Amino acid sequence: MFDIELIREFEREETPFYYYDLDLLKRTLKSIDLEATKYNFHVHYALKANFNDRLLRLIQENGLGADCVSGNEVLKALEMGFDADKIVFAGVGKSDKEINIALENNIFSFNVESIQELEVINELAAEKNKVARVALRINPNVDAQTHHYITTGLDENKFGIKSWELEDCINTLKKLSSVKLIGIHFHVGSQITDLNVFKSLCVKVNELNNWFEERGHYLQVLNVGGGLGVDYHNPDENDIPDFESYFKTFDQFLERKLNQEVHFELGRAVVAQSGSLISRVLYVKKGIKKNFIILDAGMTELMRPALYQAYHKVQQLSNSDESSETFNYDVVGPICESSDCFAKEVSLREAKRGDLIAIRSAGAYGEVMSSGYNLRNEIRYVYSGERN
Ligand SMILES: *Cc1c(COP(=O)(O)O)cnc(C)c1O
Repeated sequence: MFDIELIREFEREETPFYYYDLDLLKRTLKSIDLEATKYNFHVHYALKANFNDRLLRLIQENGLGADCVSGNEVLKALEMGFDADKIVFAGVGKSDKEINIALENNIFSFNVESIQELEVINELAAEKNKVARVALRINPNVDAQTHHYITTGLDENKFGIKSWELEDCINTLKKLSSVKLIGIHFHVGSQITDLNVFKSLCVKVNELNNWFEERGHYLQVLNVGGGLGVDYHNPDENDIPDFESYFKTFDQFLERKLNQEVHFELGRAVVAQSGSLISRVLYVKKGIKKNFIILDAGMTELMRPALYQAYHKVQQLSNSDESSETFNYDVVGPICESSDCFAKEVSLREAKRGDLIAIRSAGAYGEVMSSGYNLRNEIRYVYSGERN
């Protein structure tokens, strides 16, 4: 993946920077298209995973819709050419201003997270003489079996409408003339690697689909969210997630009624493996108990390890002599926080000042979370096959 020529190109660049492999992204999008088309599934891309222009453009060109979680993401999606009728808007705290942006642009659907929000959307839509299409985001109480910071579908999480509120919800809907119920929506968590989680989700969706039908509500859309995980340990061996099994699971276990559409909202699985954070070794500290590699990239460029103790593979690009002796290192950044650490006790070949290091699988929730803490420079990026 990182051939000699590419590394030579990296040598000329000022570090740190994100490197995006557009060819891998294209192949990933092809695979999504191939597998989703088999079942006529609709796929939206969750912009929050990465809203880099070049990546968004490719994703849009490949026909995906957009899943947005803020008014600015809705505007960004429109600016990048996503069709309004392929844009959905989720989020537990949509402001009036954000709701108005979505209404003015006639997006496909609001994924509504509370009864109060339904009332607010109804009021704002009425002011504009519009009828807003809404899907109810239901919290199905399915455990995503992932880190608790990225679990969203349990009763204790802030997201979605709880099942015991649904009766109230449809009674409220009867009174509201400026919102139209088109479907139900779910998103139970992220970095889900056990497909049984999605199977459990399907069982819940089927129950709820019937529940609505029994009460005379036909649902046009079943939106099952995103959350498919990627292999952070083997980014080269598993560079494209197993979309075949993923979509097949839903085809097998989700019971669709006549003409019902199934929608997905994938973020991480689309972009994670296409990005790496490229950094240089500034200093090497040899201790009695520990050795440290101090990089010029830190939590300000890639926050996932500090935020949820996420694992990223650290790959040495300069010293590629497989036979050289290895040492245990903590790989850390320059930021004044002890959590500014990319990896603890990893076995690496001897590192020296100036070595290039790649932190792999950083295409999702990387660049988008970069910050100016410590008055750091704005993050730079380089795309495969060209310099920018
Ligand atoms: C974040 C998010 C997604 C995407 O999650 P991934 O784990 O990146 O696939 C999808 N839907 C909603 C509502 C989200 O908030």
